[in-house]
Amino acid sequence: MAGGQITNVVGVAFRMKIFTAYLAHETNSFSPIPTNLRSFEELGVYRTGMGPPDEDIALLKGSALFYKEAMRRGDEAVVGLSAHAQPSRPTKRADYETLRSWLLEDLRLAKDVDIVLLFMHGSMMAEGYDDCESDILGCVRDIVGDEVPVGLLLDLHCNVTSQMLEKASFVTACKEYPHTDFEERAVELYDLCVRLREKKIQPKVGFARAPMLGLFQTAQPPMRDFVDHIMAREKDPGILSITLAHGFPWSDFKDAGAGVIVITDNDQSLADTRAAEICEEFFALRERGQARLYSVEEAVSAALANEEGAVVIADMSDNPGGGAASDSTFLLKELLKRGADNAAVAYVWDPAAVEIAFAAGEGARLPLRIGGKISQFSGQPVDLDVEVVALRTDAMQPHIADGEPTALGRTALVSSNGVEIILNDVRQQPFSAEGLVAAGLDPWSKKILVLKSSHHFYANFHEKAAKIIYCDAPGLLNGDAKKRPYKKITRPIWPLDDITQPNVTERAEAS
Ligand SMILES: [Zn+2]
Repeated sequence: MAGGQITNVVGVAFRMKIFTAYLAHETNSFSPIPTNLRSFEELGVYRTGMGPPDEDIALLKGSALFYKEAMRRGDEAVVGLSAHAQPSRPTKRADYETLRSWLLEDLRLAKDVDIVLLFMHGSMMAEGYDDCESDILGCVRDIVGDEVPVGLLLDLHCNVTSQMLEKASFVTACKEYPHTDFEERAVELYDLCVRLREKKIQPKVGFARAPMLGLFQTAQPPMRDFVDHIMAREKDPGILSITLAHGFPWSDFKDAGAGVIVITDNDQSLADTRAAEICEEFFALRERGQARLYSVEEAVSAALANEEGAVVIADMSDNPGGGAASDSTFLLKELLKRGADNAAVAYVWDPAAVEIAFAAGEGARLPLRIGGKISQFSGQPVDLDVEVVALRTDAMQPHIADGEPTALGRTALVSSNGVEIILNDVRQQPFSAEGLVAAGLDPWSKKILVLKSSHHFYANFHEKAAKIIYCDAPGLLNGDAKKRPYKKITRPIWPLDDITQPNVTERAEAS
């Protein structure tokens, strides 16, 4: 298979030749974890020509969504750079430039593509590049020109910029948090790009910035109803796509915050008015659209008070999926202090403790210093006499975005005072009980499960959990925006400033 180019139906003329690439990083400006090429390589990097995409679909990650749709349609697909890293600090400049050069080299090799479909996060920052998405789009445009449709699919935790909207033909994002709908959104974006290529539509984009910082869970009301309402309105005459960009509050970036993108078929006025209207509705949900947060003490008290089944405590502020180290000890300490005797904590990223547990072996009993190592946001380490219950090197979990298996690294399940802790050496948030089981834990026999995740766990835990408690411990992703040392963010923005209206006109012009 030359150059990674794929043909799927011998002798049938291809309708379209697409190029797809995936480069994703959710950048947390305040994270203590550096981001370099190794951070991407650790999770696997695919490039054109490395091998037939079919044979290692998990390595394609986000590109797989567009690749699979191309195969379904009988189109030709060239898969370029596909890489992501766990959320962390801005990528080192030279390493970002290397990744960018790989993506562009793959695009140049593809030659004469009809459509470019990119999947990026929407809040990627690198040293010297505050808006990597726009930077990549600009370079892609320089290669393919203005006539080739370029579709950009984002995570809804994106900080949308006017430059992204100018350079891409379409910018859309997933609608669900947890992000369970990337496949549908990829198919829709693909279809829009095909229709534009065939000159059947003329997209006009309206954008209204909603100056607010928060995490808006769409599985529960009122956000559930709002998203359903948005999807119904996408069927209105003239509307091609509506996207709620929730923003990523931990990127210290001038355009950080929420917004609404409305794309119409050749009706600028409809795009602008509808975006402004929906933006005001979204902004009105800024408080009610977020989960109730419990303190560490309240969370453990509420969990201990539960009688039947397992209570999940989301340790939101230590979510590695938002740039935290995943080694904080605030909840672990509280569980031990309160004598919680049938609890588990996952995943505590502690490569040194993993190393020691592996050296000791399964069944060993030894003193182990756990967590609290990376920064002030990790709290203090906890010294425990533990039993090494299970050691695994092959534990995986299905990724929330595409269901493909994701490695948890080496895992060590240790137990002390009735609390079981899964230690690992690849930072990952728990997406599914499968990963916990793969590490040797029996999750549903526990009374309390502390999961280092903000909300993605929800999709796979909510049906069996007796109760879900969102805990706002004093870690990196603590919900109090006023404590974050922002330098670049555009003010006013809620809740840093006490504003009650989005002022859509002024904000749209300012961007
Ligand atoms: Zn997200």
